[in-house]
Amino acid sequence: MADAEIGVIGGSGFYSFLDDVTEITVDTPYGRPSDSVFLGEIAGRQVAFLPRHGRDHRLPPHRINYRANLWALRSLGVRQVLGPCAVGGLRPEYGPGTLLVPDQLVDRTKARVQTYFDGEPLPGGSVPNVVHLTFADPYCPAGRQAALAAARGRAWEPVDGGTLVVIEGPRFSTRAESRWHAAQGWSVVGMTGHPEAVLARELSLCYTSLTLVTDLDAGTETGDGVSHEEVLQVFAQNVGRLREVLFDAVAALPESTDRACPCADAHAGWDLGIELP
Ligand SMILES: [Zn+2]
Repeated sequence: MADAEIGVIGGSGFYSFLDDVTEITVDTPYGRPSDSVFLGEIAGRQVAFLPRHGRDHRLPPHRINYRANLWALRSLGVRQVLGPCAVGGLRPEYGPGTLLVPDQLVDRTKARVQTYFDGEPLPGGSVPNVVHLTFADPYCPAGRQAALAAARGRAWEPVDGGTLVVIEGPRFSTRAESRWHAAQGWSVVGMTGHPEAVLARELSLCYTSLTLVTDLDAGTETGDGVSHEEVLQVFAQNVGRLREVLFDAVAALPESTDRACPCADAHAGWDLGIELP
């Protein structure tokens, strides 16, 4: 029996208040994930929580072992993942406290391993893996609907759709970069949404991003530009509400054996040479 069916990759606020969590360490062929995995239950669903930056927030976005994180969740039985993250708003109307559930992604990271298919056989496999997956729609449609409904149920009118641009960090954008991102029509900017989303797809996981706007990014900022303190402050103000939304979203996700979305068939037509964990 699987240890968990749903994964949540987020901060410590998402597991530390559960009555009953089991902390387990998981090793993967790609090394250790960001931290222990915390197993708990929400509305009868088995959930695995993984603090993306480690529980003491010791890992900056560009040092996170994204491959180990997703592989660890999958190996525990997880098939659907919710990935909340803090972002900057690229439009004046997306001010602090906005919850946006993106439907598109732009990768502006520079130095991250972002595939399991690097030509070598997958761990335990024998077939060299040269695989080009479809990624036109990076997020799970069913997960997005569950997240949007959960937000509305908590009186939080979410923004349905938009483009998350992911930058390398750890620095924030210059004003010119921020203006350029906004001019492209992109909605929010963050540092962790990629390669999380594409690695999830490569493992046939459903992945849904929930972005919480903590600041107006540099180009839309009339003051000194975004600061880390500002981000933390707004996140702290909204974390309780976001947690409620996540819990409701978990409860609303389809049964993992019942996935009607395309995510489960991501590998159709490709021979991986191995059953994924
Ligand atoms: Zn899906």
